[in-house]
Amino acid sequence: MDQVDVAVKEIKSPWGTVNVSSSTCSLTDVMSEQLAKQLHEECNSFTNCHNVDLPSIQQNTDTSSDLILAEMLQMEFDREFDVQLRREEKKFNGESKVSISFENYRMIHPFEESDSSAEEVDWQDTRHDPYRLEKPTITPKKGFAGKGKNITTKHDEEVCGRKNTARMDNFAPEVHVGDGISMDLKLSNHVYNALKRHCQTEQRRSARLHERKEHSTAEQAVDSRTRLLMYKMVNAGILENINGSVSTGKESVVFHADGGSFGEMVIPEECVLKVFKTTLNEFKNRDKYIKDDYRFKDRFSKLNPRKVIRLWAEKEMHNLTRMRNAGIPCPEVVILKKHILVMSFIGQNQVPAPKLKDAVLNSEELKKAYYQVLQMMQQLFQQCNLVHADLSEYNMLWHDGQVWLIDVSQSVEPTHPHGLEFLFRDCRNVATFFKKAGVSEAMHEYDLFNTVSGMQISSDNETDFLAQIEALEKMNEDHVQKRSKKAFTNTSEDGPPLLNEDE
Ligand code: ADP
Ligand code: MG
Repeated sequence: MDQVDVAVKEIKSPWGTVNVSSSTCSLTDVMSEQLAKQLHEECNSFTNCHNVDLPSIQQNTDTSSDLILAEMLQMEFDREFDVQLRREEKKFNGESKVSISFENYRMIHPFEESDSSAEEVDWQDTRHDPYRLEKPTITPKKGFAGKGKNITTKHDEEVCGRKNTARMDNFAPEVHVGDGISMDLKLSNHVYNALKRHCQTEQRRSARLHERKEHSTAEQAVDSRTRLLMYKMVNAGILENINGSVSTGKESVVFHADGGSFGEMVIPEECVLKVFKTTLNEFKNRDKYIKDDYRFKDRFSKLNPRKVIRLWAEKEMHNLTRMRNAGIPCPEVVILKKHILVMSFIGQNQVPAPKLKDAVLNSEELKKAYYQVLQMMQQLFQQCNLVHADLSEYNMLWHDGQVWLIDVSQSVEPTHPHGLEFLFRDCRNVATFFKKAGVSEAMHEYDLFNTVSGMQISSDNETDFLAQIEALEKMNEDHVQKRSKKAFTNTSEDGPPLLNEDE
C-alpha cells in the first residue's frame, strides 16, 4: 500500500464529540522535507496566536490530560467570577461603615482549596519545621480511609494535641509550650482546658491590680480628664510647659508651669495650676462654705457634686480677683478652666516661697509680717468684703520681704451665716502664731477681731464672745441677705474670661 488514507478520527472530549477532519496525502508527501517544514511553520503560527489569550493556562505545561486542562479552564473562569464578585461587593458596600461580605458566593476551586480552616492558620505545624530533629510524623488524613483501615476524625488525639499547643500561643503567649524546634508538644484537652482557665484567671487578676494602681495614681496626681485639660492649655499656648507638682493636698494638687502667650493676655513667666481634686469626699465637709454663700447658693442646689468642685475653683478666682483689686499681695489669676485655676507663681525659679510657718524670719521681719497681716485682714474684710476662713501660717507665704495670701477658695463674705465665726477662728490662728513667734505687739484674738471687723464686742471669755457673735449673725441674717442679693449682681465683673471649651 503506497498510499495511506488518514481516516476521520472521533476524539472523546469532556465537551462532547469533536470532529477533526484532515486532508489526505500520499506517503511521498508525508516523507517530503518541504511539507514537514511547512506543517511545522503552520503549527507554530497557530500556537503563537493562542498564546496571547491564554497566558494563565500556558503557565502549566502539563497539558497532556484533558481533565487537567478542563480544570485549569474552570479555574480561570472561577477566578474571573471572583474578581467580578469582588467588584460587585465593593460597589454594593460603597463607603458604608457596615459592609456585607460576598465571600460565601466565591468559587473555591479544588485547585486552590486547602484542608486548613481559618483557626488552623496560626497553627505552627512543626512537621515541616526544618530545625526539627525527629523524623516527621505524618498526620493521617481525616475521614474514612477504606475497608479494614482506621477512621481518623477531628478528635484524633495527635491532631488535637498539636492544635491545642498551637492555640495556646494565641491567647496565652506567656505560657511556654515549645517553639517548634526539636519539640512536637501535644497538649491533651484536659491539660489545655486547665491551662486556659488558669491563664484567664491570671489575666483578670492582673487587670484588677493594674486598674487599682492606675486609680490610686490618678487620685494622687490627676485623672485623665484633668490631664487632657492641662494638655489643652499647653496646646493653646497659654502655658509653655507644665513642670512638677508643688504641693499635693487633700483638696488640691498644685503644679508649677512656665507661662506662654495667648493673644493679648499677659501671662506671668512662672505660673501655678491649682487642680481641685475631683474626688468628692474632702469637699463634703466644706459644703457650708459654699451652699450658704449667696453668690453660689442658687447654683449650688442645682449642681451635681462634680460641678460643685468647679464652683470651688470659680470661688477662688473671684476672691483672688477682689483681693488683687484691693492691692492685697496674692497670686494673680491667669485663667480658669473647669476645676483648674491658673495663677501667678509666688516664688522664683520653680522654688515656691516658704509658708510663714517654715520661713526663717528675724524679729524685725516677724514684726513687719504681723503688721502686714493685720492690714491685710482689715483690707480683706472692709474693702473686699471677705473673710479668709482658713487663715493661718499655712496659707501665708513669705516672698520678697512680705506676706502673700493664698488659698481663698473657701473664703466667704462676712454676711455668710457663719462669716463672723470664721473670722474669729482666723483671728485666733493669727494671734496664736505671732504670739508664739515672739511678736510682743501681737493683739489678743478678741481685740484683733474687733480691729478687723470694726465691731465692739466686749467679753473676756470665749464662750461668751462666740455667743455674741452668733447672736449678731442671726440678727443680721435677714438684713444681710437683702443687701447681699443687690451686691450679687456685680459679682460677674470679678473674674477674667473663662477659657472656651474648645480652645
Ligand atoms: P490647699 O487647699 O491644698 O491647701 P493651697 O492653695 O494652700 O491649696 O496650695 C497648696 C500649696 O501650694 C501651698 O501651701 C503653697 O506651698 C503652694 N502654692 C499654692 N499656690 C501657690 C502659688 N500661687 N505660688 C506658689 N506656691 C503656691
Ligand atoms: Mg492651703
